[in-house]
Amino acid sequence: MNRPVYLDNNATTPIDPRVLEAMMQYFTEHFGNAASKTHVYGQRARAAVETARESLAAALGAVAKEIVFTSGATESNNIAIKGVAAAHRQRGNHLITQATEHKAVLDPCAWLEKHGHRVTVLGTDASGQVRLDELAEAITPETVLVSIMAANNEIGTLQHLAEIGALCRERGVLFHTDAAQAFGKIHLDVKAMNIDLLSASGHKVYGPKGIGLLYVRRRDPYVRCETIIHGGGHELGLRSGTLNVPGIVGFARAAELCLDAMDTEMPRIAELRDRLQRGLFDHIDELKLNGHPTERLANNLNVSFAYIEGESLMLNLENDIAVSSGSACTSELLKPSHVLAALGVGEDLAQSSLRFSLSRFTTAEEIDYAVDRVRTVVAKLREMSPLYEMAQQGIDLSKVEWNDPGHPH
Ligand SMILES: *Cc1c(COP(=O)(O)O)cnc(C)c1O
Repeated sequence: MNRPVYLDNNATTPIDPRVLEAMMQYFTEHFGNAASKTHVYGQRARAAVETARESLAAALGAVAKEIVFTSGATESNNIAIKGVAAAHRQRGNHLITQATEHKAVLDPCAWLEKHGHRVTVLGTDASGQVRLDELAEAITPETVLVSIMAANNEIGTLQHLAEIGALCRERGVLFHTDAAQAFGKIHLDVKAMNIDLLSASGHKVYGPKGIGLLYVRRRDPYVRCETIIHGGGHELGLRSGTLNVPGIVGFARAAELCLDAMDTEMPRIAELRDRLQRGLFDHIDELKLNGHPTERLANNLNVSFAYIEGESLMLNLENDIAVSSGSACTSELLKPSHVLAALGVGEDLAQSSLRFSLSRFTTAEEIDYAVDRVRTVVAKLREMSPLYEMAQQGIDLSKVEWNDPGHPH
């Protein structure tokens, strides 16, 4: 067993050895530039790219010419949001998204807002799902795009894509979804779900880093999207730049492996996740599950540990398990996660949260080890926590008057 045990697969996954094997020859023997039409080096690279494109399109229920290769989901989100906004500027200047999106959606929206667009950022219910009636109400004749992620990277909550897609279609608004976490883990069908644009990333599905895709619908309706990366006119002019041929080949192979095994692999991973969840909830009190209890990615568990400082928790666990915490270190401040804040999770509980995310390589032995370590550390920290002791004695901490106005943090 490797230590620390890697349980941070929503941040990135290791490359599957079968993916690496498929990629290798495109670094060496078949190194050609896919845009070189005049010789066999380029033609071979081109052929590999087009095979990969067809395979990835099929994985989404799309056709090959609707797939644009990018450097990852961040770039795909930027092209989708800024590109659609620019192309539809004459028709309207309003976009809708939600507070629990990845920064790669929120920040392009904020940038557009700074440059004259109007953006509505919807809240969510306590599980992290957008309320359909609020979405319906937010759509105006000026609205050109709704961007709602398929699955959340922190809490794993799945959105009702088909319902959102149907609503957008009915109201004549384009629907983009950041599917960086959902792709390869749940079945996605851009036709059935009325998705007009979709972002996905290689390194979240056991593929390489630095490769991603943007699906752009080209029929019923043809989606107009301007480029934000100008140059040689690659990828139908939507994303110029020499294609990352080994990355593209690896991404397609990775997606094939996910799709082929999805129906057996995801229930198996869910079982391990449930084992982790039971192992914690059956033996530690004052825990809070963040996100939707059932409509959630199979590999995800996000838990808050009351009466514990998030920083001490991480410090005590970092040699044993690799996980993410509910606070992001921005400058000197420990800022609680914007996702948990949007769910209404208080600052203390957000600071003390951990995100566990499993992979196809996670074993039962690793889960049992993680459970054991977390239980031990939480018990130790709570033993030292006056807050926990007071709570155990039935003291209502919200009514306590603290000498130090900074408390309790
Ligand atoms: C990882 C992730 C991204 C960023 O993807 P990159 O390919 O690393 O740019 C965007 N959105 C979500 C939901 C993610 O999980």
